[in-house]
Amino acid sequence: MPRATKIVATLGPASNDRNTLLQMIAAGVDVVRLNFSHGTAQDHIDRANMVREVARAAGREVAIMADLQGPKIRVGKFVDGKIMLEKGAAFVLDAALDVPGDLNQVGLDYKDLPRDVHTGDILLLNDGLIVLSVDRVIGNKIHTTVKIGGELSNNKGINRQGGGLTAPALTAKDMEDVKTAMALEADYIAVSFPKNATDMIMARQLANIAGDAKGHKPLMIAKIERAEAIPVLQEILDASDGIMVARGDLAVEVGNAAVPALQKRMIRMARASNKLTITATQMMESMIVNAVPTRAEVSDVANAVLDGTDAVMLSAETAAGKYPVEVVQAMASIVTAADESEACELDGEFLHQTFTRVDQSIAYGALFTAYHLRCKAIVALTDSGSTALWMSRHDVDVPIYALTPRLRTLRKLALFRNVKAYELEQSNDSDAVLKAAEHLLLAKGIVQQGDLIVLTVGEPMGQAGGTNTLKIVQVGLN
Ligand code: PEP
Repeated sequence: MPRATKIVATLGPASNDRNTLLQMIAAGVDVVRLNFSHGTAQDHIDRANMVREVARAAGREVAIMADLQGPKIRVGKFVDGKIMLEKGAAFVLDAALDVPGDLNQVGLDYKDLPRDVHTGDILLLNDGLIVLSVDRVIGNKIHTTVKIGGELSNNKGINRQGGGLTAPALTAKDMEDVKTAMALEADYIAVSFPKNATDMIMARQLANIAGDAKGHKPLMIAKIERAEAIPVLQEILDASDGIMVARGDLAVEVGNAAVPALQKRMIRMARASNKLTITATQMMESMIVNAVPTRAEVSDVANAVLDGTDAVMLSAETAAGKYPVEVVQAMASIVTAADESEACELDGEFLHQTFTRVDQSIAYGALFTAYHLRCKAIVALTDSGSTALWMSRHDVDVPIYALTPRLRTLRKLALFRNVKAYELEQSNDSDAVLKAAEHLLLAKGIVQQGDLIVLTVGEPMGQAGGTNTLKIVQVGLN
């Protein structure tokens, strides 16, 4: 069986060269994340070109995800690049300060922060490693006392415990970056810090307008990292194609302890809504410096797989770590073992699913049939990939092969759990296409003569959303 759960890897200084990238893709990277918090538009375009060239050389289609920076609220710079904050010290965050900071004060890049915070608020800096409590706000100055000290360096992020900062999800930089993402034909756009469905609808509109000239529409991923996104998760899911469980910022806002249960809830809700999920942040953190993961990291990755995530993500591990290839190899082996570990039962949610669409009913019919007949493979001849999406929301322990003539669909499918995609030309002659599908599966060693497979197809062929036929075929005998 091919690996069911996919791997997203972030590019950065440790992985920006052809050779490392080739080894990472060979080791199992399915989606490359371009982090728009760093680098110029040209850097991202060059990297995307490199990813596509290298993937082609490796004989794989790899999706590209453009991850927008969003309104990360940060401190400014320091005279010496960093300071050491001592517990109990007074420290001022000053939105009007336009010179580098020192031990007493620092500037802010989000000028509205003094309007958003109040006496008694807790501010968490540098992913929660430094804790400040707000004593009072006077004009542009937030006067605080250090509750937990430590090293604070240039441009570290600020969160308020409990969330509620008003910075808009799409900054002017994000709007420019969406254009770059569409110029490089990103398959996925990840939107940082959305608060509600409107943020996602706006981001999708911008992307679709920017992609219009090329007829390209990316899939939109909402990064769930604000406390206020949790109560409105369903509306965000409805407006998105998938979500990222962005555990870094989310943990700072809602507290570390709340995140594991939230991760399970988010994945469950996304699957029930036919949406994708990526579980992100610190999954293999120790491999930034060590050649092997900790036992806890192994369990964390495996548990995300057992939760039903489509993909697990590597951030600094591949962007800036010492072992960008080894970490992908290690993650792939953990994921494979977890994929294979559970005896799979047709899940209850699937049996109670309601639907009105013909193509969706064919997709579920294929799952049901493949599960009960113990078929070797489910084969979806698909244009948009939607049949494969519906089928991949339920685990029936039968691999799904999506065969599509469309390169863009092929790339998007790289993220879908339990789906392996191949290119296959289609024509009006559906018998010939079905034979070609059988030959492709035989040639790749996926099936053998006599194996039972289930195929879904739209007749006449070549129309998105036209799947209307389910075929049960014994390979080589029909
Ligand atoms: C996160 O906060 O977990 C996350 C994925 O976001 P960032 O882009 O800041 O890494």
